[in-house]
This record gives sequence, C-alpha cells and structure tokens, in this order.
Amino acid sequence: MKKKLSFSLLLFSIFLSISIISFFPEKFSTYLINYNIDKNQNRFNFKKDEIAVFTIGTGSPLGAQRANSGTAVFLNEKFFLFDVGDGVVQKAENMNLPLNQLDGIFITHYHSDHYIDLPYMINRSWVLGRNQDLNVYGPTGLKEILDSNKSFLKLENKYRVDHHGPELMNTKYALGIPNEFENLDKQIIYNKDGVKITAFNVDHYPVIPAVGYSIEFNNKKIVISGDTKANKVVFEMAENADLLIHEVILNSLLKKTATILDNKSMKRNSRIVTDIQDYHASPKEIIKLANKANVKTLILTHLIPAPDNIVIKNLYKKETKGFQGKIYLANDGDKFIVK
Ligand SMILES: [Zn+2]
Ligand SMILES: [Zn+2]
Repeated sequence: MKKKLSFSLLLFSIFLSISIISFFPEKFSTYLINYNIDKNQNRFNFKKDEIAVFTIGTGSPLGAQRANSGTAVFLNEKFFLFDVGDGVVQKAENMNLPLNQLDGIFITHYHSDHYIDLPYMINRSWVLGRNQDLNVYGPTGLKEILDSNKSFLKLENKYRVDHHGPELMNTKYALGIPNEFENLDKQIIYNKDGVKITAFNVDHYPVIPAVGYSIEFNNKKIVISGDTKANKVVFEMAENADLLIHEVILNSLLKKTATILDNKSMKRNSRIVTDIQDYHASPKEIIKLANKANVKTLILTHLIPAPDNIVIKNLYKKETKGFQGKIYLANDGDKFIVK
C-alpha cells in the first residue's frame, strides 16, 4: 500500500513539473540560460605537461552518423586541429571545444573528408571570437585553397563587420594564414616552445601529396597517420609512440560488400567499394606493424565502415586481436589524455 502511494506521488510530481515547465517556460528560461553559459567555463584547463586528444570526427565518406576526419590536440596551452572533414565544425561545437582559442590547423591531404570544413572552421572560430592568427599547415595545394577562401568568404565577412562593427569583428583574423610545405619527406613544420610537429609522406596513391604528422612534446609522442595503406614510414615515426591514431579499413567486409553489390547490378557502387581498398590499411597489417614499433596505445579512426552495430564491432575485435598495448575503436567525441 505504502509503495503504491509513493509511486503515485512520484508520478504526480513528474506530471506537475512537466505541466509547470510547459505552461510557464519563462520561469525556467533564466535558469537555462545561466546553466548553458556556465557549464563550459574553464572546462579546458589541462595540466601543462599533459597532452589531451579528442577524436571529433571518426567516420569516412562511406556514410554513417559520424563526422568525417578531425582530431583536436591540446598541448602546452595550444589548441591544434588535425584535418577538418565534413561535420567537424558542428561536432566540435557540440563537444564545446573552445573554437575561439584555435591556434592552428594541419591538413593531411585534400580529399573532401579531410578538409571540406576548412573555410567554415576558419570563419566560425572567428565569428565565435578568435582574436589571434590562425595558421593553417598543409602540403602543396594549401595556398590555392586558402586563396579561394578569400573570395568565398568575402560577403560573409563583410556582413559580420557591417553588423557587429570592426572592434568586435577584426578582419585581420578572418582568414587563415597559409603555411604550405613542399612534398619533402620528414620535415619539421612547427617547432616552438618545446612542441615539435613533423610531417611525413604516406602512401595514399594516387593522392599526392598525402602526409601524416608526428607531434612531440615533453618526452611524449603522438602520431596521426592520415589516409594511407599500411606503410612502414608511419610506424618508423610511431616507434615507441604514446598514441598512434591510425586510419583503418575492414577489407574482409568490403570485399563481401562489393560482391553483393555486383550481384545486385550496382556496378558503380561495387567499383568504388573495390577501388578504396587499395589505399587504406587493414586491421591485421596495422596490428602487426604497431606491435613491432612498440606503440603504447592505438586508436583506430576513419573507420571504414563505422562500427556502429554489434556485428561490425565484433569483426573489428576479431581482426585486431593480438595487439600488445591498449587499443580503441574511436568514437566521435572521445577523449584521450597522455600523461
Ligand atoms: Zn579519408
Ligand atoms: Zn583520403
């Protein structure tokens, strides 16, 4: 009897709360505004000797609920982004990453799933209050892309200044600064305040140039593969790395998918699913090379296909068995701290 009464009371109070919120939303809006403003203040105060990594986008153009390539790295009070594929701006905002404090963007190659959000990220970080230079680093081709941004963003930037005034919207920071490097192998492209970032060529043929990045700070090392076949150079760079963020393709499943598409006379799709297999890396190859290189933590991203159901998750699990360190199939929004 007592239980019945307390359950009825609970139901009644839920009903009452919903009714009050529905009929008097104004009463709650002040609370909601305060809550939303305050909840993320000072959320990104990391320890100075740590590196924090967020996988913002972990999907691929093969389609999924995930954003495409984008990884945020916080170190030494700097905020760097590696690739800005489609959906990365929106995902980063949903994750409450401080885009107005963005210091640099590094692009691995010019497939749309790695850079199509670049104009938007430059613009959005500025609109949100970025008041410092935004350096963009990338192999040959970057300057042309950023040059075209000038005309692409011309009207948008003008309207922002017209509306909010030049003090609030300083056009000095409205565009990214190109730091294009030639396709020379293993070159240090950033070396400041103890942070060293090296670009190295990977094998994503016929996509040339295509690079990966190694990030070193405070005796810690993180390597980002970019898009590549299983490639010795990546693992040379990742020797004893604390974190290797590597792309992956589940070849066994894609082969089967191509056959099924063929049987359904979907020749174009079948051809694409077949073509993409020759410039990405399979789990087994990655595990073998990562073990050899003594990688401590392996994060698989750019997952083709995304492991969004139990069948695909288990296929990845099976094919990544035998890795000696820690291994993760990254999700959008995951956070990794290197101490
Ligand atoms: Zn890609
Ligand atoms: Zn690619």
